[in-house]
Amino acid sequence: MADKIGVYFDEASLGGVLDIQKLVEGVQRKWGDLCPVVKIHPHLSSAEGRAMIQADIDAGAINAVCACGSSPRVEWEFYQFGPEILVDRVNLRELCTLCYNDPCGEPVVAGQTPELLQKMATDYVNMGIVKLQKANVPDGDMVEAVKHVLVIGGGWSGLTAALDVAKAGYAVTLVEKQDSLGGAAVGMYKTIPLRHPYDKAQNTGVEKKIADVQASDKIDVLLKSEIVSIAGAPGAYDVTLKVAGEERSLAIGSVVIATGWVPQETSYLKPLGYGKLKNVVTSREFEAMAKAGNIVRATDGEKPARVMFLLGFGDTLAPFAVKEEEARAAALAAADTKTKDEDEGPKTNFVKQDTYKHLLYSAELTSLTALKQANYVREFMPQGMAFVVYEHMMVPGINELYYKAAQNDPGVMMTKGVVNAVRDGGDGDIVVVLTDTLLGEKIELEVDMLVLPTAMVPTTALDPILKLQYRQGPAMPDLELFSGYADSNYICFPYETRRTGIYAAGAVRQPMTLATAEVDAAGAALKAVQCLESANRGMAVHPRSGDLSFPKFNLVRCTQCKRCTEECPFGALDEDEKGNPMPNTSRCRRCGTCMGACPERVISFDNYNVDQIGSMIKQVDVPDDMAVGGPRMLILACENDAYPALDMAALRGKKWSPYVRIVPVRCLGSVNTIWIADAMSKGTDGCLLLGCKYGEDYQCHFVKGSELCNRRMANIGETLGKLGIETERVQQLQVAIDEYDKVPAMIDKFVDDITKLGPNPFKGY
Ligand code: SF4
Ligand code: SF4
Repeated sequence: MADKIGVYFDEASLGGVLDIQKLVEGVQRKWGDLCPVVKIHPHLSSAEGRAMIQADIDAGAINAVCACGSSPRVEWEFYQFGPEILVDRVNLRELCTLCYNDPCGEPVVAGQTPELLQKMATDYVNMGIVKLQKANVPDGDMVEAVKHVLVIGGGWSGLTAALDVAKAGYAVTLVEKQDSLGGAAVGMYKTIPLRHPYDKAQNTGVEKKIADVQASDKIDVLLKSEIVSIAGAPGAYDVTLKVAGEERSLAIGSVVIATGWVPQETSYLKPLGYGKLKNVVTSREFEAMAKAGNIVRATDGEKPARVMFLLGFGDTLAPFAVKEEEARAAALAAADTKTKDEDEGPKTNFVKQDTYKHLLYSAELTSLTALKQANYVREFMPQGMAFVVYEHMMVPGINELYYKAAQNDPGVMMTKGVVNAVRDGGDGDIVVVLTDTLLGEKIELEVDMLVLPTAMVPTTALDPILKLQYRQGPAMPDLELFSGYADSNYICFPYETRRTGIYAAGAVRQPMTLATAEVDAAGAALKAVQCLESANRGMAVHPRSGDLSFPKFNLVRCTQCKRCTEECPFGALDEDEKGNPMPNTSRCRRCGTCMGACPERVISFDNYNVDQIGSMIKQVDVPDDMAVGGPRMLILACENDAYPALDMAALRGKKWSPYVRIVPVRCLGSVNTIWIADAMSKGTDGCLLLGCKYGEDYQCHFVKGSELCNRRMANIGETLGKLGIETERVQQLQVAIDEYDKVPAMIDKFVDDITKLGPNPFKGY
């Protein structure tokens, strides 16, 4: 427990606009013996500044550090003083001096501190001190981690991941369902360019990867094998495998799932002549012909001189899109009517071949594959002609160079257009009718062969690969019911699935090229290694990497209401027979959603708890008279997106109302409604919850946190109603990390709206 807090002010961060001496005196007066050391340093973030703090620690004068200056998001490591010393950084630079917007429009002049700005700083310093006072040093909860990674899938991504884990010095078991390694890459004639100058298709090099894996003494390859079950927890999984028909157990610490993709089913290609006209083939079939060195027409065995690659479907596939949307709506409606119990556990009831959607998702791959195969036409039939007809040519990033190389080939003709009809041209030829072309007219092209794209369908859409034997968090219907991709927070943590300890790589996660899959596999491999090493130290793996805190339960007060166990997004809380929560620390992400859910305040973290945040809120000095001291509003800001957005806004010179006080929270899911009730009952005029986006395109780092918070807002509204407080005084807004230019205006609008409502009726009580 922090009972000797050193408070340090960094003059350099505060730009001469705060009366720091006054802040020092305020701390000494208010906190007395709790803060035996209060110092100002001209440049705290310097070797001398750090040495000053370290000397106070070494002398036993303090056991916690409250550093007032820049944001905690900068120089984080610099302000670490060992595992026993608690540190809080009071963000007086970004969230106070830089963002200060004088209500009268007066500029802030050095040496003339506006009263409102000084009050703001005083509140923040007091909040920082009480935050430390209410914290304990987290002690971690270690798992004896098995330093062995399981890689499922022996294709390009799995081979790469296995090699990367082995290179890092860890043992790997590589499980492959087939009787040989290499997966889909083995069936490729060539790949789109992997290296500079990115203008030619090249050999995949998968044979070398296979040989490297086979030669590694750290990698145990199991062919004709599959997963029967995975039990246990990150760091200590108990895996049952079926190897060549026989069951086998394996102790492992983390998993990389790299089971790749399968080609889409082809029935929906019928309107485009597939199945009826023999020389209409899929890109997958065309690749196989190239691999066999024999690109010929099925009708006459002749080499096709004119080959069209069609990527523009117009309305031809519209009925499939409609059908799939209807299936989606029906499945979502069914999911909504499920009981909570049914909603747990892995789902297998998604539409297994959500073809139209997979085709859209695969657009980058199908575009690049068409370019690559147009090259094959030129290579196998040098006098031949390739036509690439596209609605949207998608070649992001460096692959633009590959597109340009194809454009420069006189034997490749590319045009924008959509297909109207495909019909038999006689003698095995095919007539393709196109509209909306760059030529501006309807055209008919007769070709020898028509190649239709093959969407990549993740293997997880067909079968549950992992067969996890422990509790899962509530499902995200958009992922589970439809596309079937291994779930992940694509934007922020691509390889990290919602199952801690399990990392997805390659096309099982999203359609991708071999080049992208290689990077992806390296990321997943490193995450798998990080998981072992974090579990071993009792730390969170992600997104709060290195966090030693974990939820602790004072079960004496528990009413077994199961809110925490049901709302944990990661299924990290089991229940005993009475309904008491049973935590699994290595599955836990330390988001605090359980803490936010608990009505009895049973759950706390050593360094983050209901009492702590509640006490911080109490440190905000709320003027009794709004007309004299102005309103006061509380912002609970998610520290993953909203808080960095605020920091970035301030650093870019954006300003916002000085009437708000910002408290960072781990996730809006961790917000306990008691904080809001307390704030409102002490006269705070409004409370704004700033968190990540939720819903289908969620960006919440803890998947469900901001969504759950939104649901809890209904309860908050009820509570406010009972207190006779307008419900608009509490609002939740969604902010993405890159919306730093918008967030100041969001705050100011909120402040304006609340100010118009007038003072909180509880003011002054
Ligand atoms: S902190 Fe988050 S992940 Fe851990 S048990 Fe609570 S809700 Fe689950
Ligand atoms: S939410 Fe709180 S009271 Fe309910 S089961 Fe969990 S710990 Fe117990």
